[in-house]
Amino acid sequence: MREPDIYRRARERMVQTQIAARGIRDERVLSAMRKVPRHFFVEEALRDQAYADHPLPIGEGQTISQPYIVAFMTEALELKGHEKVLEVGTGSGYQTAILAELARWVYSIERYPRLLERARKILEELGYTNVILRLGDGTRGWPEAAPFEAIIVTAAGPKIPEPLLDQLAEGGRLVMPVGDEWSQYLVKVVKKGGQIYRQTLEPVRFVKLVGDYGFKD
Ligand code: SAM
Repeated sequence: MREPDIYRRARERMVQTQIAARGIRDERVLSAMRKVPRHFFVEEALRDQAYADHPLPIGEGQTISQPYIVAFMTEALELKGHEKVLEVGTGSGYQTAILAELARWVYSIERYPRLLERARKILEELGYTNVILRLGDGTRGWPEAAPFEAIIVTAAGPKIPEPLLDQLAEGGRLVMPVGDEWSQYLVKVVKKGGQIYRQTLEPVRFVKLVGDYGFKD
């Protein structure tokens, strides 16, 4: 794919100054962030800010997350390349593309049809063939495709939805922002010997996870 040098340079700068400089070390994550053209996933009018150090609106009151947060959550999933990953909150599809670079299969669920169809179009244009998208309530997970070696939730809920814990494979990792509308922390859980081990990571600010096992609309 040919793209203007200006975007490639902006992406390299983003990786160096926002991501590597803040401690992301996983080389596979850094190279996926270098590769995926984030400006494709951003609305035309905001393209000049695609590689800036903050989230951006994507319509329906939702956002594409800050690049560093995408990298941080992705690194926490510890992907090696063979995994089946579940993403709740497709949004723009940018995080989906990063996951598709790093895992075997990505199953991703979004509740807004317009966002889902836009993400589908961009991911197809970019040639991703290992992504399966679905419209619906991601707090229920994707039982037919479970178990997942990694689960990422890109919206904040009051607690980790029980169905997602059930659908996490043995040895699997789940990362999700947990809290109320104003104060949230990224939480990572690992399932080992059928037990759930929980670790609190960074403070964050995400849009709401709305669904049966999230906030009510
Ligand atoms: N990963 C996205 C990206 O790279 O653009 C960021 C997504 S945005 C911060 C969170 C998304 O979660 C929104 O698009 C929102 O509609 C979606 N969402 C919220 N609750 C959901 C649910 N129960 N099921 C599926 N998607 C949900």
